[in-house]
Amino acid sequence: MKAISVLGSTGSIGTQTLEIVDAFPDKFRVVALTAGQNLPLLVKQIIRHRPEIVALANESLLPELKDRLNSLSIDQRPKEFLKLTGGPDGLNEAASWNSADLVVTGIVGCAGLLPTLAAIRSGKDLALANKETLIAAGPVVLPELKKSGSRLLPADSEHSAIFQCLQGTPWAENARLSTGIPTPGLRRIQLTASGGAFRDWSTEDLKKATIKDAISHPNWSMGRKITVDSATLMNKGLEVIEAHYLFGIDYDHIEIIIHPQSIIHSMIELSDSSVLAQLGWPDMKLPILYCMSWPHRLNTPWPRLKLTEVQELSFHSPDTSKYPCMELAYSAGRSGGTMPAVLNAANEEAVGQFLNEKTHFLDIPKLIEIACEKHKNELQVNPSLDDILSVDKWARQIVSEQVKKLLF
Ligand code: NAD
Ligand code: MG
Repeated sequence: MKAISVLGSTGSIGTQTLEIVDAFPDKFRVVALTAGQNLPLLVKQIIRHRPEIVALANESLLPELKDRLNSLSIDQRPKEFLKLTGGPDGLNEAASWNSADLVVTGIVGCAGLLPTLAAIRSGKDLALANKETLIAAGPVVLPELKKSGSRLLPADSEHSAIFQCLQGTPWAENARLSTGIPTPGLRRIQLTASGGAFRDWSTEDLKKATIKDAISHPNWSMGRKITVDSATLMNKGLEVIEAHYLFGIDYDHIEIIIHPQSIIHSMIELSDSSVLAQLGWPDMKLPILYCMSWPHRLNTPWPRLKLTEVQELSFHSPDTSKYPCMELAYSAGRSGGTMPAVLNAANEEAVGQFLNEKTHFLDIPKLIEIACEKHKNELQVNPSLDDILSVDKWARQIVSEQVKKLLF
């Protein structure tokens, strides 16, 4: 029985993780939950999964959570030993909860950084969905992993595909999980991308893009931020940096390919020119499950892939002029140091401003570019955690000031 902590339990990744726990009650149990503010759902999860600790990001909601739990019937009410906590310290405590074997990081954005570090420092293995953490703080996270021996198992579908393809290669034999060391025998990574909400729109039509348009993903059902990232293709850009840190491969050997059917979840090319791919229906439960069961495979009743039903798998190169975010991400990744943290924070702020109707969809890459340009002369090559947190704050400010100036 593996003990699981779920950070961001009320989100898309969190709820799918709990569905897996439900489907395999003899394999997994939940020991810790953290959430933002969806108290009705969190209470249902507490009743169902009986965790040992629950932490709320928004500490001021703790009294309301306690009231809701106290008003439950006796049989539903959690046992006295349930610890309720909140705020940054509470999230860290839940993330490093002693009885956990694996921490699923489903918090969105750089807000997941400190809890992720707390989990790593306490030696937990991680199922990494919260990619922003690794992108912003790769230079801090990788040495911490080495020190504690924690393993970073990728829950992002593309990186899970790569991870699955790498089983059986020298990479897996040396258990090179997120050491940042180049992978022997790995020549190239091909990250597949669905193309996002606007893949069939012309550049001209993008001027009319609304929030509703941007949050309607053709293939995947996900949280709002990552769905907008998919529409700008920044999600793929972020995943390039994520792949660089996870698999120790340089940026010249990570390629993006548009694959509208989202059946091939990514591919690797090995030194003998063999290309391996992992296929499946677009369903995040499979990569999450693989993190939870690794190195084993569990038997699932999930719909099996029928290629005769899919009929066609197509591929084309991404349009970098329609989607400038990919190039911004490659460039930030190549600069390294604090630059990916600036890119990530500027993107989070720009997407937030877009979702709050303060700026237009097409402004997102422009805002990110401004922040990255301004940071060029301040870049720190070997940043500390404080450096990362400080540039994260700075980049958000730059973007929000730019939006206020209404430069566009
Ligand atoms: P979501 O918005 O559905 O859920 C986010 C969760 O984080 C919620 O539980 C929310 O309460 C919590 N949260 C939000 N702000 C917080 C804060 N400041 N502090 C602490 N907790 C906070 O997001 P999601 O789609 O589940 O994505 C979560 C992460 O997984 C993201 O990093 C995303 O890039 C990654 N990811 C998601 C998918 C997917 O299919 N949803 C796929 C690949 C990767
Ligand atoms: Mg992905």
